[in-house]
Amino acid sequence: GHRQPPAESLAPHDVFIAVKTTRKFHRARLDLLLETWISRHKEMPGLPDGATLPVELCKCQRGTRPHPTSRALDSVNRSYQLPLLGTFIFTDGDDEALARRTGNVVNTNCSAAHSRQALSCKMAVEYDHFIESGRKWFCHVDDDNYVNVRALLRLLAGYPHTQDVYIGKPSLDRPIQATERVSENKMRPVHFWFATGGAGFCISRGLALKMSPWARGHFMSTAERIRLPDDCTIGYIVEALLGVPLIRSGLFHSHLENLQQVPASELHEQVTLSYGMFESKRNAIHMKGPFSVEADPSRFRSIHCHLYPDTPWCPHSAVF
Ligand code: UDP
Ligand code: MN
Repeated sequence: GHRQPPAESLAPHDVFIAVKTTRKFHRARLDLLLETWISRHKEMPGLPDGATLPVELCKCQRGTRPHPTSRALDSVNRSYQLPLLGTFIFTDGDDEALARRTGNVVNTNCSAAHSRQALSCKMAVEYDHFIESGRKWFCHVDDDNYVNVRALLRLLAGYPHTQDVYIGKPSLDRPIQATERVSENKMRPVHFWFATGGAGFCISRGLALKMSPWARGHFMSTAERIRLPDDCTIGYIVEALLGVPLIRSGLFHSHLENLQQVPASELHEQVTLSYGMFESKRNAIHMKGPFSVEADPSRFRSIHCHLYPDTPWCPHSAVF
């Protein structure tokens, strides 16, 4: 679809970003995100970039467990005049070190397996937290995604959050064919587009509310109807059940595409980036930066310094 001129101004806090992770990736993947883009997705410039929260506050936040809602976490942060982080981390195991760094961690109590059911369980919790948060936009990313928050806000500001908006990048070049269980012994073919979860996608509040008959408290059973992963289930609800078409955006990137093809000169416009393996080769954004490939294999630190040169840990004299 065509983008309208900016329809509304968006504040960082209007966008709820859900990062899906698992206990074993907290050190390996999540710490990098906290040091880079997550620390920039905040409403108040209260804490210096990269500063950690006082331990007492973390204890206080821990007191609200086992299931602090995102709204409850926001109000704790607000009452302590802490920056309101727009990003929430959905994981499957407790981690003191992580809780010390950010209050916005939700233990979904979903299984830590890489199964379809476990991943749908996390998506269901992400969706519920978004609805409860009252925010305008829901965006889902994986823990190997870099989110360019400024570009994301620019993109979403072009669409009305009250209308039906589902935006992301399809991973296939045609609609996925699935078999829908309509009842106990009735099946029928169904096809629809879906945005690949590994590139990140966003859904307007207007659309998210319409999804609730199939998503709120029923996401797992809806996923079972087509027996496909969580991101496909989102596409099934939006396209097949609600008839709302996916808006394709080339600004979202997963490691299932050749990331070397994203030009470094266009990083400012890209909404999400990634790193990982592709056709059994290392796949990452190709850019010269202040950090070597050995020191920064994901390239996320170099990308972050390119986008936010005022970051304290970025070398100041480097040419990049
Ligand atoms: N993940 C998870 N539970 C697992 C394994 C992975 O929640 O048991 C999450 C992981 O943190 C990431 C996403 O699922 O956000 C995709 O995992 P990964 O990048 O390892 O696999 P991919 O599907 O990209 O090959
Ligand atoms: Mn991945």
